[in-house]
Parts: sequence; C-alpha cells; structure tokens
Amino acid sequence: MTHSPPPTVPTPPTVFVDRDGTINREVHHLSDPAQLELLPGAAAGLRALCEAGCPLVVISNQSPIGRGLFTEERLLEIQARLNEMLLAEGVSITGWYWCPHAPWEACACRKPAPGMFIKARDELGVILESSWMIGDRLTDLLAGRQVGAKCVLVATGYGEAESALPEREACVDYFVPTLREAAGVILESVRAAGGSG
Ligand SMILES: [Mg+2]
Ligand SMILES: [Zn+2]
Repeated sequence: MTHSPPPTVPTPPTVFVDRDGTINREVHHLSDPAQLELLPGAAAGLRALCEAGCPLVVISNQSPIGRGLFTEERLLEIQARLNEMLLAEGVSITGWYWCPHAPWEACACRKPAPGMFIKARDELGVILESSWMIGDRLTDLLAGRQVGAKCVLVATGYGEAESALPEREACVDYFVPTLREAAGVILESVRAAGGSG
C-alpha cells in the first residue's frame, strides 16, 4: 500500500479591509449608524472571500473619537450596525480594529502606521506576509505594505483621486473599481498558488 502525500491546500489568506470608502460609502466623520450605506460590489466581494475561507479583518482610522466628536461607544454602535448589514449579506467579519487617536497624538496605530496589523497578528494569529490589504487611500496601503501584505486600491471613496498620486507607485499592487474586483484579484492569486488542481 503506498501513501501519497495529501495535496497541499494553501491556507486562505487573511484579507484586511478598510471601512469608510471601501465597504460603506464615505461620509466625512461618519457618526451615526443611519449614515451607513454599503457600496456597490462590497457585499458581493466580501461574500466571495468569505466563501473561499479568507478571514476578514476590518481596520479603520477613527480620528473623530480623538477629536472629541463622538465616543467609542458610538463607534461600537456603528460597527454593530455595519456587522448586521454584512451578516444579512452572508458576510462574517473575523476582527474589527480601529485607531481612536487624532493625528497629532502620533500613535502607533493610525494608518499608515502598522499597529493595527501587528495587533491582529498577535490576537488572531494572522500571517501578515501572505495577507492582503484593500483600501481607498494610499495610507491604508502604505500600512499594508510595511507588514508585507499585497495591496489593492479600490476606486470607491477617495480611491479614484488617490490613484493619481505619485506615492501610488510605492504601495499599490492592483487598482480596481470596487471590492468585487478586489476579491476577484485575490481569489485568482489563491487559485494560482494552489496549482491547476
Ligand atoms: Mg477609507
Ligand atoms: Zn492610534
């Protein structure tokens, strides 16, 4: 009786996703759950990643907290509502991370600093080197690039304008219209890594 080694199935990569302008429509200093509106392609893209077994981790700068515009409790209400909207679309989020600081606090977690990625690695066991980051700002992707994630810029939110900036060269691996196409790029890469099997 011969034993052939089992085919190696690559572990689905963790996908980090920015929130405002990437999942939900960008609203300056969004402060009320009623302002949440899923962007076209967002639910479909996240669902496809979920179905492929990719853990999803939301990573969001929330400076309005540090600016005193609303409390962390309010942020949790907003996140709970967004989570509910996503669950209704068949999307489950593995982790939610946010930076509550204002820019002048010079913290280690406000993107483009990598603090939230490091926390997710430590708490969830994320393998950062094989992870992906999707966002609508270059600061999202500069953060992802620092920890070795592959980086996808979406054209929603600030993405179209950000795509014209010269810093794009330093951090954008792919530029796509919405989360739907971002998921397509990631799943294609996963399939390629798994061979033709
Ligand atoms: Mg954003
Ligand atoms: Zn911070």
